[in-house]
Amino acid sequence: MNCIRRLVSALIARVLPGIDGGRIWNRLDMHSPESGEILLEIRLMQWLQPWRQTLAAAMLAFFLAGVWLVWSVGSALFAAAPHGLAFAVPLLLGVLVHGLFILIVHECTHGNVFGRPVDDWVGNGAIGLLLLPFLAERYQMVHRLHHRRANQVGDTNWTPFRQRLFRRSRWLYALYELLPVVNNLDRIREEVGRGRRSGVAFAWLCAAATYGILQPPLAYWLLVVLGVNTINALRLWVEHFGHYAGRVSNTYYCPLGFGIGNHEVHHRYPRIPALVLAVGLALRRKDGSVLTGVRSLLFDKRYAHFRTFQDDFTGDNV
Ligand SMILES: [Zn+2]
Repeated sequence: MNCIRRLVSALIARVLPGIDGGRIWNRLDMHSPESGEILLEIRLMQWLQPWRQTLAAAMLAFFLAGVWLVWSVGSALFAAAPHGLAFAVPLLLGVLVHGLFILIVHECTHGNVFGRPVDDWVGNGAIGLLLLPFLAERYQMVHRLHHRRANQVGDTNWTPFRQRLFRRSRWLYALYELLPVVNNLDRIREEVGRGRRSGVAFAWLCAAATYGILQPPLAYWLLVVLGVNTINALRLWVEHFGHYAGRVSNTYYCPLGFGIGNHEVHHRYPRIPALVLAVGLALRRKDGSVLTGVRSLLFDKRYAHFRTFQDDFTGDNV
């Protein structure tokens, strides 16, 4: 047992008595619960309920500190670093932006911060502060559709275009996913809708204010976006990919993922907050990581999106 798992285990045992670490590690409390056994994350969420508003405020404060770190401190480091190393700063901070996105935007999409409709505004505002306003409203709608259709026909995570590209060449498909912004176009369709204009306007307003106040250089912003997109692509290749064993998604390690790697639990219970997922993830066996995913995608011929393993999948009905 590693030290983080041992520490989290000891802390959890103090507040939630009767925890069976072995069953949680092997995810038996999720796949074959015993009579009366409640999922660890649900117990923890119920225990944390009185502090939900305080936690939400703390998350928001952490998010705002992160925004300042990325667009102000990061920009200064980018300008001061030697030429050869300068590009590494925004690429690495892209991993932090991705984490901040998970912590607030993804959480707001599920109404897990202050609850909807407040979260609709907070989520779009956060998208703006992260200088990704072109994702406003659309990200939330595409993501909620993904949850409703996970691995089924119409899953926004695996589109007909991606299936064609993947069948032709895994390398071509990988390159496509590494292209920021462009790689979202195939997800948008009539059914997704445009969303509220007010939400989009609010995101652009927040982005304009952030840019106006902190003024990150354009090249720096572009490299951060490249960094965010890269970690997001690596995450996709482990989240719903594998050698299908009846699962909707995997449990995996993602740096600064704020519990997103506890994805199997997330799909079963999207209302469990990120910080609870993060605690649960520390105690659960992982199917892989963002690094094992990219290796399997490129070199394991049997490794594919879970959609392609479904009984009704023919190759054309994506
Ligand atoms: Zn989600």
